[in-house]
Amino acid sequence: MNIAGKKVLIVEDEQSIVDILTFNLQKEGCQTIAAFDGEDGLNKALTENPDLILLDLMLPKMDGYEVCRRIRENFETVPIIMVTAREEEEDKVVGLEMGADDYITKPFSMRELLARVKTNMRRQTFPAQAAPSKVIRAGDVTLDPDSFEVTKAGRQIPLSSKEYDLLKYFMTNPEKVASREELMEKVWNYEYYGDMRTVDVTVRRLREKIETNPAEPEHIITRRGAGYLFRK
Ligand code: CA
Repeated sequence: MNIAGKKVLIVEDEQSIVDILTFNLQKEGCQTIAAFDGEDGLNKALTENPDLILLDLMLPKMDGYEVCRRIRENFETVPIIMVTAREEEEDKVVGLEMGADDYITKPFSMRELLARVKTNMRRQTFPAQAAPSKVIRAGDVTLDPDSFEVTKAGRQIPLSSKEYDLLKYFMTNPEKVASREELMEKVWNYEYYGDMRTVDVTVRRLREKIETNPAEPEHIITRRGAGYLFRK
């Protein structure tokens, strides 16, 4: 995917990492902005309208979780990739719960990072991809593939990029059990077996947004040992 012209916000307090990210993203034609602490990161996330945010976890002034939480509190759906250290296993899950779309662990290869950036780049970057599409319905939930709008009982629901992709996958493949591996591959474009908790956490977040009672879901049904099934 071509990411030239896209604006990436890098929130990272280590100058050397900012430099190498900047260099590689600019080589792909991206425009980059850097913030070296959490407060500045949040401020730039809300004012600079980035197409994607690379967010370090351990930051001065405000940590990555808090930055992520506050961005989502402002109904910003910009894709966020959380950057964590390898030993911080639990942090990944917390990051996803705070509304991050994906995470990458340090140290990462630039190839891996660019692949993640391309996978997660704001979906408005695929303008003419759609065949003539129509609104998909499931009960009182609607999804419009042209405008990327999702509503429940007539009210617009702000979804993050991966929440939207997952819901769209479910709604276009209803009544069919999808394993977590399958969802990982189809929605996250990971060909290898990534961390399956990414799928579970995103499902949980999606249920909280589209289910009337997330504890007793009517649409996204768990099939224990098999995966998830979407019911229209
Ligand atoms: Ca840091």
